Amino acid sequence: MLNFHITYPQLINCMLETTIIKKSIRKNSKNISLRINHKGEIIITSPYPLSAKKYQQIIKNNQTWIEGHLIQHLNSQNNCFPENIKLTALDKTWHIEYQKTPSKPKLMSLNENSFIIYGNYTKIEVVQLLKRWLTQQAKQSLYPWLQQVSHEITLPYNSVSIGHHRAQWGSCNGEKHISLNAKLLFLPSILVRHVMIHELVHTIHFNHSINFWHCVARYDAHWKENKKILKTADNYLPDWI
Ligand SMILES: [Zn+2]
Repeated sequence: MLNFHITYPQLINCMLETTIIKKSIRKNSKNISLRINHKGEIIITSPYPLSAKKYQQIIKNNQTWIEGHLIQHLNSQNNCFPENIKLTALDKTWHIEYQKTPSKPKLMSLNENSFIIYGNYTKIEVVQLLKRWLTQQAKQSLYPWLQQVSHEITLPYNSVSIGHHRAQWGSCNGEKHISLNAKLLFLPSILVRHVMIHELVHTIHFNHSINFWHCVARYDAHWKENKKILKTADNYLPDWI
């Protein structure tokens, strides 16, 4: 459990220390201007180069304005991040907390159904942390699940791994190595089972022949329906992924 809470004034100090200040010289600009871009960086534009002291003075003179906009920026950034992750396949939901600190971005488990992302994170870094977390969850749940289905339908495989493929839910190669997409966890369990059966049947049929589908049908009575739903299963995925 994290035992510190960051209030806005503390946060602003941290942010001001870590905020990038970019100096832009534009000969045709008439005045010195200040803005905060979409990355939360401060941009000072001037018609001619300024001294370090002058830049500091500009920051100091506009501190209230900068603080207000940095808070706004922080809030708008946080709004894009998921507050909860529901893994439909496991029928489980996790709550996510966020805390901006000057340290390296990290994800830490708080208890069984919540975790925290803290540090000086960007949106990309949050997505990376969430994907890594998802891979962990997939390994923990899909590995024993595949083993169970394989045992049930008596189709053994040699090895299994978790991937983040763009357009594939699973694959099986000639060495009977099965790869499962971590995003399967967002799908209803019946579809996960369908994908597992599909890949396990590939251990004896290496194509999508009539025999292949006959075999799939033997283990998944609703295979036609499941196959159809799987085509639009992207709808089950959250926006952040
Ligand atoms: Zn296939």
